[in-house]
Amino acid sequence: MDSVVEAALRLRTMDWVRERAEQNGGFLFRDELLDFHLNGERLPVIDYSRGIRNPASFASTLSIVSAADGPYDDTESDDGLLHYAYRKGDPWSGDNRKLRNAMETGMPLILFRKEIANIYTPVLPVYVVDDEPENRQFLIALDESFTFIANPRHLTTPQREYALRLARQRLHQPAFRTRVLVAYETQCAICELKHGSLLDAAHIVPDSNARGVPTVDNGLALCKIHHAAYDQNMLGVTADYEVRIAHDLLAEIDGPMLKHGLQEMHGRRLHLPPRRRDRPSRDLLSWRFERFGSRP
Ligand SMILES: [Zn+2]
Repeated sequence: MDSVVEAALRLRTMDWVRERAEQNGGFLFRDELLDFHLNGERLPVIDYSRGIRNPASFASTLSIVSAADGPYDDTESDDGLLHYAYRKGDPWSGDNRKLRNAMETGMPLILFRKEIANIYTPVLPVYVVDDEPENRQFLIALDESFTFIANPRHLTTPQREYALRLARQRLHQPAFRTRVLVAYETQCAICELKHGSLLDAAHIVPDSNARGVPTVDNGLALCKIHHAAYDQNMLGVTADYEVRIAHDLLAEIDGPMLKHGLQEMHGRRLHLPPRRRDRPSRDLLSWRFERFGSRP
């Protein structure tokens, strides 16, 4: 296949992945990734059984999957780049050759983080920036700028800081959103709105705090308005899972959003995830509720 045609198909595939993920709330289901069609032909975006997708007609890899068991990915390292292990077998042929080709041509690819069985969080575009045959791994960056630096294996301090910042924004936050939304069955914990594209994962203890870890028990699935109200302490949640609206807001008189969207939420009980271990930590809720109570 002509490389321009391949680039065009890649771009359209990426656009679809982005759109679809946004509709769902930041993730895609395995079945829809396998059933993708382009120009009337099926083009699975992931492989059926392997963690790398190399369409036969493509010269470069289309997507790779990294499984995340804990809150952070096992392929990540302290340099902010992803370390993606060679596929089994000959390092110079097959899957490894197409991944290396992506590095040589600068072709963007899609990284999927498999958060939970059959659920994939896309991170795109990503770039293969280096090859370490001695460690049998590729280095993957989250920004094109890393394809232009001389030695991605030895990043300078500012380069590493940027890479780590990107990892937090483009890898950890989307992955957190997926885990939390899936745990809450894609519903706002306060108003039960069920549109993934209107839902966020709110941190109970903010991630700027040492206790603000990206685990489901430090998260709440909230619609955009309730998320913003929670972040600004206009709305609080007690350790007993009850919603409180700030006094000054309760006293205000305004239109239907204030009345139905906020004031009527006062005293409501949270809609909790079905699995006990996914429920918000009472300890973290009470830490946060103290900040709500002390709002000026
Ligand atoms: Zn809501």
